[in-house]
Amino acid sequence: MQKDISIKLKPAEASDNTAIRRYLAQTSGVTESSITGFYKTRQSIDARSRQQVWINLTLKTFIDEPFHQREIERISFKEVDHSNKKVIIVGAGPAGLFAALCFLEKGIQPIIIERGKDVRARRRDLAVLNKDGIINPESNYCFGEGGAGTYSDGKLYTRSSKRGDINRILNLFVQFGAEEKILYEAHPHIGTNKLPHIITAMREQIIACGGKFLFEKKVNDFIIEKDELKGIKTADGDSFFADAVILATGHSARDVYELLYQKNILIEAKSFALGVRVEHPQTLIDSIQYHCALRDEHLPPSSYSLVEQVNERGVFSFCMCPGGIIAPAATNPNELVVNGWSPSKRDNPFANSGMVVTVEMKDTVDYFKRRKVEGIRLREEAIQHSSLSLHPTPLTLMHFQQSIEQKAFSAGGGKFVAPAQRMADFCNNKISSTLPECSYLPGIISGDMRTVLPSFIQKSLQSALQSFGKKMRGYYTNDAIIVATESRTSSPVRIPRNADTLEHPQLKNLFPCGEGAGYAGGIVSAAMDGERVAHIIAEKINSL
Ligand SMILES: Cc1cc2nc3c(=O)[nH]c(=O)nc-3n(C[C@H](O)[C@H](O)[C@H](O)COP(=O)(O)OP(=O)(O)OC[C@H]3O[C@@H](n4cnc5c(N)ncnc54)[C@H](O)[C@@H]3O)c2cc1C
Repeated sequence: MQKDISIKLKPAEASDNTAIRRYLAQTSGVTESSITGFYKTRQSIDARSRQQVWINLTLKTFIDEPFHQREIERISFKEVDHSNKKVIIVGAGPAGLFAALCFLEKGIQPIIIERGKDVRARRRDLAVLNKDGIINPESNYCFGEGGAGTYSDGKLYTRSSKRGDINRILNLFVQFGAEEKILYEAHPHIGTNKLPHIITAMREQIIACGGKFLFEKKVNDFIIEKDELKGIKTADGDSFFADAVILATGHSARDVYELLYQKNILIEAKSFALGVRVEHPQTLIDSIQYHCALRDEHLPPSSYSLVEQVNERGVFSFCMCPGGIIAPAATNPNELVVNGWSPSKRDNPFANSGMVVTVEMKDTVDYFKRRKVEGIRLREEAIQHSSLSLHPTPLTLMHFQQSIEQKAFSAGGGKFVAPAQRMADFCNNKISSTLPECSYLPGIISGDMRTVLPSFIQKSLQSALQSFGKKMRGYYTNDAIIVATESRTSSPVRIPRNADTLEHPQLKNLFPCGEGAGYAGGIVSAAMDGERVAHIIAEKINSL
């Protein structure tokens, strides 16, 4: 007999198979020897009780019958049929990679064109950025093989449940080398140290089946005939033609949005969120979340998720990285952006999270007006943007985002040193005379966030952080630090597409995809969108 049995255990018991077997036998009223084997199908932490943290487990239990290990659904990929049509995929992030894998299931050749380098070469550029404060605009935390997800925390949960099949994505990650526990943990994550190997395995599979990868090739133009996209051009002068083009360039490819705008290809401004990254000692977050002085060795470093409405504006934590590091995630030399990552063990002594405020088009008008009145010296194009933004365009929110990143860069004094403030000092408009230790490798400098953040963001954050301190006692503390600026939370531009065909409404054969087009937020949802777009294109191609 096989049974799905749910039990609630103390952390130490939940990691002890003998204890689990005992509980399974008790729950199902059989002897322990009748239990021939079991595996976890669900695991979550319940830390609501102040007395005891519980682990909720659901286990596939085999009773009085031979035990079978979990079956991982293995997807098989075909050799591409070169007489068949081919598809260009611009961008090797999760959206592009999972679209490519999907084409291989159908024997269609994907040609992946990526501005950045492969994962191994990319790692060297990240080391230079962290150590010397020098950025490669084509190879950084956002650009390169695997996209923005490669050197991330690798959190694999998504709020999206409609688009595609989350389990299929998780299975594919396991097929390419991720640990099986991502299949049953409530909040699965992979870790920065493991993701590059998985991405490499995906690339090797794609190439083995006849797909193509072209690195260090930046798409800088479209080949259009009448209203049809025939192909793309790259910055080094090459042209590529295909039956369909998937544009999966992520939320940081500002030049792609500019190109679409210049070519009068329809795009729209999209609200997004911007703020800071907050960092606490991990021990502090553990003691709050697990109600203890010291975390039980069988519990993982704890996380949190916070949300608050301040004057009808959302303020929320974003991409929380327990045991993580704050990373310099800019893509240009004069802009400062922070984000977070963590290794698979999440064993760094810091807990960081984005803390961001929603930004809409109406917020930018006042901001740009004030910037002009203040007479702040702006770069030439920023002045252009500011005048543009008084008459909003689809790029206004992107220029707003860029302008704040530039201010943060100046406030840090260059080399990606980030302006920072202790949390309570920030809320009391006080410059911090000292700063606590921080994980951000290029370094931090005491600054005044009022010179970086527009006042509606600064005030919303001040109010929300104090409220969060009431929800999570101890969270609001001067031992925490805030670092500017967390600005690449999602795309500030949407590239429209038809609901059924997923094709751009104005330009045939252009398929906007993933986070940069405004249809995903995170690794899993970008991967699902990639698959969805690939399915639709494959159907179209096969019916021609
Ligand atoms: C530091 C960090 C940590 C993160 N942590 C997590 C996390 O833990 N969990 C999670 O779900 N999400 C996380 N994210 C977000 C996640 O990485 C993105 O949501 C996801 O990667 C989006 O996938 P995508 O394929 O749509 O775009 P991207 O991953 O952004 O990929 C786009 C690709 O297109 C390429 N490209 C851009 N322009 C061009 C061009 N002109 N020509 C050719 N190629 C081009 C880029 O180089 C890039 O490789 C993190 C992001 C960062 C930066």
